[in-house]
Amino acid sequence: MSAEAKPPLLSYSRAAFEALVVGFGGKPFHANIVRDSVLTKSLFDYEQMTALPKNVRARLAAEAPVFAGREVTRSSARDETTKLLIEFPRTNDKDATVETVHMPSLYSNPDAAEGDQEKGATLCVSTQVGCPVGCPFCASGQLGLSRNLEAHEILEQYVRGAALGKLGRSVVMGMGEPLLNYKNLSVALGVVHDEMGMGARKITVSTVGFPDRLRKLAPLRPRFQLAISLHSPDQDQRDVLVPAMKGVPIDDILAAGDDWFEKTGREITYEYVLLGRENDTEGHARRLGEKLRGRRCTVNLIPFNPVRESPFRRPDTADVDLFRGALERARVVATVRWSRGVESDAACGQLRIQKLENR
Ligand code: SF4
Repeated sequence: MSAEAKPPLLSYSRAAFEALVVGFGGKPFHANIVRDSVLTKSLFDYEQMTALPKNVRARLAAEAPVFAGREVTRSSARDETTKLLIEFPRTNDKDATVETVHMPSLYSNPDAAEGDQEKGATLCVSTQVGCPVGCPFCASGQLGLSRNLEAHEILEQYVRGAALGKLGRSVVMGMGEPLLNYKNLSVALGVVHDEMGMGARKITVSTVGFPDRLRKLAPLRPRFQLAISLHSPDQDQRDVLVPAMKGVPIDDILAAGDDWFEKTGREITYEYVLLGRENDTEGHARRLGEKLRGRRCTVNLIPFNPVRESPFRRPDTADVDLFRGALERARVVATVRWSRGVESDAACGQLRIQKLENR
């Protein structure tokens, strides 16, 4: 928000918004009508909320815009994936754009049971503008961190995403490291869970796995699903692929994952981006299998989606199959998730980079 911008509706707590509406001459139940219209019916024009008195609609329109951000770009792929580039301008911000991706479930989760595929799309949301982790294969990591997103800016991605089509689940796996902005994320997810009606099991928070932070989060509720990005079973290679975690032993991260499972009863998903001829050999798979053998978890293999001028390449399909097979021989459950929307604007973070280049 710039200095003169009005606080958006999504930045108010339920109680604060009710007080605002009452202050405008409305009744408490009018506040509920507005929140329900925005959060569950994708109705964003106060004028269309005809159950509200006219003067209340006018005051809200003047004083509480629904959104703080604006949609800069919308890009759709043949597989119906839609990527939004949303700008959240604030005073002194050089760049405040993030990506949100809406994936119809039929395509985003081909392993889902048939019934689940009808229950809505998967939304991938961002938690920071840029990212401080600096993974060399990731477009978002190349420009560093600009700032944390506010809670309402995270929530806005959900509300805009729901307007593209019913949401069944979400992955907090876009730009940024969620555990470095968890306070704001948890406020936003509280609204998504309580008012937008998305169950905690349908929300996956994906992190590079700070052991201490994971242990602090485990007792909190609601309990979301957790995914930890590993990307290599070898400490030296992981230190390079996940620079902000350099020196944090992989075994400590796995032990924190074990504690998480013990405390929450929720199995961890380990994410592994397969980079062609880097970390995709059978030897890597065998060593990963040894580390994970006996642990209650799933490995999600993500064949790399090349970004422009990236030194990394997409793995061969045959190598992906061999990798998965080696994990299965170690009795580790593995799934493969091919990236969506490849033919539109390619990998995660690229819309934002294109916008910065076009300035
Ligand atoms: S892959 Fe994730 S953690 Fe790594 S730089 Fe990109 S957004 Fe950050």
